[in-house]
Amino acid sequence: MAMDTEVATDFEVVIGLEVHAQLLTKSKMFCTCSTDYANAAPNTHVCPVCMGMPGVLPVINQGAVAYTIMTALSLNCTIPEYSKFDRKNYPYPDLMKGYQISQYDIPLSKNGYLLIEYEGQARRIGITRVHLEEDTARLLHFDGYSLIDINRSGTPLMEIVSEPDIRSPEEARLYMQKLREILVYLGVSSGRMEEGSLRCDANISIRPRGQQKLGVKTEIKNMNSFRSVERALAYEAQRQVELLRAGIPIQQETRGWVETKGITVAQRSKEYAHDYRYFPEPDLPPLIINRAWVEGLRAQLPELPDARRARYMDEYGLSAQDANVLTEEKALGDYFEQVVAASQASDRWTRAKAAANLVINDVVRLLKANSISVEESPLPPAASANLLDLLARGRITGRQGKEVLEEAFASGKMPETVVQEKGIEPPISDQGALERIIEEVITNNAKVVSDYRAGKTNALQYLIGQVMKQTRGQAKADSVRTILITKLDETPPA
Ligand SMILES: [Zn+2]
Repeated sequence: MAMDTEVATDFEVVIGLEVHAQLLTKSKMFCTCSTDYANAAPNTHVCPVCMGMPGVLPVINQGAVAYTIMTALSLNCTIPEYSKFDRKNYPYPDLMKGYQISQYDIPLSKNGYLLIEYEGQARRIGITRVHLEEDTARLLHFDGYSLIDINRSGTPLMEIVSEPDIRSPEEARLYMQKLREILVYLGVSSGRMEEGSLRCDANISIRPRGQQKLGVKTEIKNMNSFRSVERALAYEAQRQVELLRAGIPIQQETRGWVETKGITVAQRSKEYAHDYRYFPEPDLPPLIINRAWVEGLRAQLPELPDARRARYMDEYGLSAQDANVLTEEKALGDYFEQVVAASQASDRWTRAKAAANLVINDVVRLLKANSISVEESPLPPAASANLLDLLARGRITGRQGKEVLEEAFASGKMPETVVQEKGIEPPISDQGALERIIEEVITNNAKVVSDYRAGKTNALQYLIGQVMKQTRGQAKADSVRTILITKLDETPPA
């Protein structure tokens, strides 16, 4: 989204993001309840610990600690040898214990960075910390009353806090997208903003360009998509500029993004901000983080998007644009690599180029049209590879390939089976046979031929159509066109 150019010239926008990601552990942060509650009836994934009953004892989920450290390592953070959990005290109906177990002064990691690319330049966004806490329950509001669903309470929640290094709403979106890619590649988060498993709060202020001191910031909440992050911040930057220009001081406050109206509205001012009275969680032991364990996690980190992108360009000879598309989703890149590995035609670069075209242009289109993910594709990589081989061997034409692909996708059958079942004949490679059919078409369509000679361009298209019909689509359209034009030019007018 283009921002008011005046914002960009007189004022500098300063943004820091706090991103919360629910972790994909099987059980909750401090109890054995399942985190797989998305389709469960309310209050069915609960126990005395996550309901906050008095006298119960939490137990730390080691998987959640491992996921947090893997994320921190991927974001170039340092991992301390000692960490601990703290109580963050505040009263709210969705907070079962009246406090949240979080991390205050000694988080699981700090001092990292994430590289993004903005307008062709690499930009380094500092990561203050990645820490671990627990999610709250969920309130459901109805007309005149509210209900509580405790299923979400105690779900492991990782918080990734950036430095105020982001300089535009667009950069904020790029940072979120890059971060999400990494979390999904690591397999620690589903990355689904629309479902609330990945959430973003933003701190934003503006200052006259060249000024060191930061302006008064507001905190923006309720942004549920990458697009709303960018829109909300663009709106808020503009609002702050207009206030300053009018000589009205900016209030430090929390504001909510109202998607339907495209505005932010004041929620609560800092005067009423809570004093969280953090203190060390007395029910949990401090964490001594074993170096060998951390190095073991580092060794198991998967290839991350940037590395994969570079490898696709280097190993497969793909363009930067194709490599970008194929690495946005880990599963799509995995699919592409399996297609290349399974196809037999010619050399690797040719195979890779053909596979990239098929996946980016056709497979993605069919998946979108059917609203399914690549993991659920009825066309396994081996089937895509089979189609590429049929095309490379000249067994089917490009036009037949499209038809075979649609059918294989719809039926889940292998393309070669589709070719057999539909009785698709091999393309006419016999030049003589094709020439005879073309001569026949010219003889039988004297009127159209004279139209063509009179300069009617539609006439040629019609004749090509007639030849394709005679050959039942088995001829290559471009050779038909070439031969037809040659014949028309050499055949004497009747
Ligand atoms: Zn529980």
